[in-house]
Amino acid sequence: MEQTFIMIKPDGVQRGLVGEIIGRFEKKGFSLKGLKLITVDRSFAERHYADLSAKPFFNGLVEYIISGPVVAMVWEGKNVVTTGRKIIGATNPAESAPGTIRGDYAIDIGRNVIHGSDSVESGRKEIALWFPEGPVSWESSLHPWIYE
Ligand code: ADP
Ligand code: MG
Repeated sequence: MEQTFIMIKPDGVQRGLVGEIIGRFEKKGFSLKGLKLITVDRSFAERHYADLSAKPFFNGLVEYIISGPVVAMVWEGKNVVTTGRKIIGATNPAESAPGTIRGDYAIDIGRNVIHGSDSVESGRKEIALWFPEGPVSWESSLHPWIYE
């Protein structure tokens, strides 16, 4: 089954949105396979966002991610990468639809509350980086009520 890496950024934790965000993924029917509250250092944040190192906002982005604890998660389910990005909404909250997490809870692109992997392959890399111990292995007994 497909997995994705989801991170509630420091602003989401500080603003008390952790329960709300986890609830949206749970209620959709996805399965939680990894969860930790963690503060990362600069070199770790730079590794996570290595693909964006040439961008003018890179330093500010790294400062933002290391500014407080984040909630790192692995979520599993059919099409969870693409559907997870839909639940999250567009990168710039000015363009995120109402009903999405960023559309409902964010205003500025540099404080957009949550991260989600953009492909199955980057999901694999990000899960390996954030969960070197591997996700937790368990099967939800609700599967027959979620998948036909
Ligand atoms: P996404 O998080 O939607 O996958 P990107 O991978 O393009 O978006 O960018 C990573 C993160 O960098 C964004 O979520 C946002 O926090 C930040 N970011 C992207 N573009 C900008 C920008 N123009 N100015 C400030 N921060 C930005
Ligand atoms: Mg991205």
